Amino acid sequence: MTPAASRLHQVRARVAAAAKAARRNPASVEIVGVSKGRSRPEIEEIIATGLRDFGENRVQEAQEKWPEILASHPDIRLHFVGRLQSNKAADAVALFDVIHSLDRPSLVEALGEASVKAGKRPAVYIQVNIGDEGQKGGCPIADLPGLVDLARSADLDLVGLMAIPPADQQPGSYFALLAKLAARHGLNGLSMGMSSDIEPAVMLGATAVRVGSALFEDQ
Ligand SMILES: *Cc1c(COP(=O)(O)O)cnc(C)c1O
Repeated sequence: MTPAASRLHQVRARVAAAAKAARRNPASVEIVGVSKGRSRPEIEEIIATGLRDFGENRVQEAQEKWPEILASHPDIRLHFVGRLQSNKAADAVALFDVIHSLDRPSLVEALGEASVKAGKRPAVYIQVNIGDEGQKGGCPIADLPGLVDLARSADLDLVGLMAIPPADQQPGSYFALLAKLAARHGLNGLSMGMSSDIEPAVMLGATAVRVGSALFEDQ
């Protein structure tokens, strides 16, 4: 096994063990390899192991790296996981299949327009500022009902909620809260969990974990 294959194997084993403990089907959890800051050869190594979902957090960096890779791997699904400026919405819709960071009304409008123009509708998660942190991306919990309604009326393909819990705390109660909010709004998708907290995220219902360092670096 190559080092990259062994890292993916370990991530899959962590997801599977957590899913089993929660009596969930491991196949219901998508692993998104977050490749921000990684070089094309590093990414190609992971592609060679079979992963087909990758995430980036900057539109420009993704535009520089991915079109060439996608030309030889058209089955890859690209996920946008960073803060999205409204003036980058059209570029994001052109390149990405899934957007995890819808967090405000102006972006609903920009993504709606871009989708119509491109004739292509990305799947969208609303990012929630689940720990109510000042500087963090994500919509305030109090604004979520309005933003869900707006996204649905704009005909976006709203699939779920995404959050990044506060860095200095146990993530479990935040993941549980996100799951509760998603259920309240009839949303099935839960994008939560990164390298350090895959297990609690999967146990509490994650349908997509966004994994960077555990996949790209020897631990
Ligand atoms: C970088 C990043 C990740 C991956 O983080 P790791 O701790 O390296 O797994 C996940 N989600 C978002 C939004 C990120 O920016």
